[in-house]
Amino acid sequence: MAKRFPTTRYAEAMSDYIPYGRQDISQQDIDAVIEVLRSDWITQGPAIERFEQAVANYCGAKYAVAVSSATAALHIACLAAGLGQGDILWTSPNTFVASANCGLYCGAKVDFVDIDPNTYNLSVDELERKLTGAEKQGCLPKVLIPVHFAGQSCEIEQIAALSQRYGFKIIEDASHAIGGSYQRQPIGSCQFSDMAAFSFHPVKIITTGEGGMVLTNHQELYQRLIRLRSHGITRNPDLMQGESHGSWYYQQLELGFNYRMTDIQAGLGTSQMQRLNEFVERRRFLAERYNQMLQDLPLVLPWQHPDTMSSWHLYVMLLQLNKISKTHRQVFEEMRRDGIGVNLHYIPIHTQPYYQKLGFKLGDFPNAERYYQEAISIPIYYALTQNEQDKVVMSIKKTLLSEKIMS
Ligand SMILES: *Cc1c(COP(=O)(O)O)cnc(C)c1O
Repeated sequence: MAKRFPTTRYAEAMSDYIPYGRQDISQQDIDAVIEVLRSDWITQGPAIERFEQAVANYCGAKYAVAVSSATAALHIACLAAGLGQGDILWTSPNTFVASANCGLYCGAKVDFVDIDPNTYNLSVDELERKLTGAEKQGCLPKVLIPVHFAGQSCEIEQIAALSQRYGFKIIEDASHAIGGSYQRQPIGSCQFSDMAAFSFHPVKIITTGEGGMVLTNHQELYQRLIRLRSHGITRNPDLMQGESHGSWYYQQLELGFNYRMTDIQAGLGTSQMQRLNEFVERRRFLAERYNQMLQDLPLVLPWQHPDTMSSWHLYVMLLQLNKISKTHRQVFEEMRRDGIGVNLHYIPIHTQPYYQKLGFKLGDFPNAERYYQEAISIPIYYALTQNEQDKVVMSIKKTLLSEKIMS
């Protein structure tokens, strides 16, 4: 097993605490970053293209565009898909707010499709039902963002069939899911979508500190993404309006951003890509071990659709509240007191105050709301030891099986 990064003061302070997720940085990763730091380019250099190539090759997609975060990736993907004022974007309510905010950045309206109670992914049945209604009312979405929750793919082939029929574009939010697969194809292949976005935040499967990437098989989308990443500027004379003035010349063709990733980050990313399979294998092993150890408890364990192989970004258990004497919150807090960094993914987006101001209310997406009342994410990450995992399981058992303490 690769060695962990030398302990910092911060890690020492947390040494007894088991977080729900964390990065793993090896000596090879550190060497890769140092190599970039010693090179001529620390941004806009060749390390970016190497990283993009590594991810595109792994996923079997034609093009990849590295950016500063998955949030940036989703934003420019929406713009490249043509999303703008007056358009509509749909996504899952059970995701991080960034999956919906990207639509608002573009001036579009956002709405949600409730989740499947088995996979916690956006429900295809619910999607179909909602599309039928939206067609009648003339308010079909332009873009759908299915989120591969916890690393398990959505039923993307069925979603693609609906996109053919109703004419929306598909941007996969694959922030959790690099290293996972669907029908034996790597997630990110874009076989059934227009674009897919990855996150390289430290809690995700591989990391660049902050970072993200958009994958696509369409050259026009690729060119647009490249341009939007860097101010809307092109240096390619073929894409310019009129003649180039010379080799110094560039044109701003639209309003873009500075969403570039640095070469320092890309160096780390390429090195992490070499460890991706090892990362995911370990997560699968740990997930399987949780499945074994937790099977007889009053819990619902993560169900896996037979078409999918999860990357296991998250391991979410649902409490069977009618079978235990404690509340969801009590279980959560007792485990935190035991030093277990349990977490909750996710607070349904439509219940956030900002989204309530936009007109959503409690009760709008009952499956996501019910899930929120029962779900707890327990620690899963590459460097989690079996000993640490045993501590997590002990804390769960103790908490679920002991009597409620009156306070
Ligand atoms: C982490 C995450 C994002 C945002 O990723 P950043 O790289 O932090 O911007 C978006 N969507 C989902 C589902 C995520 O988990």
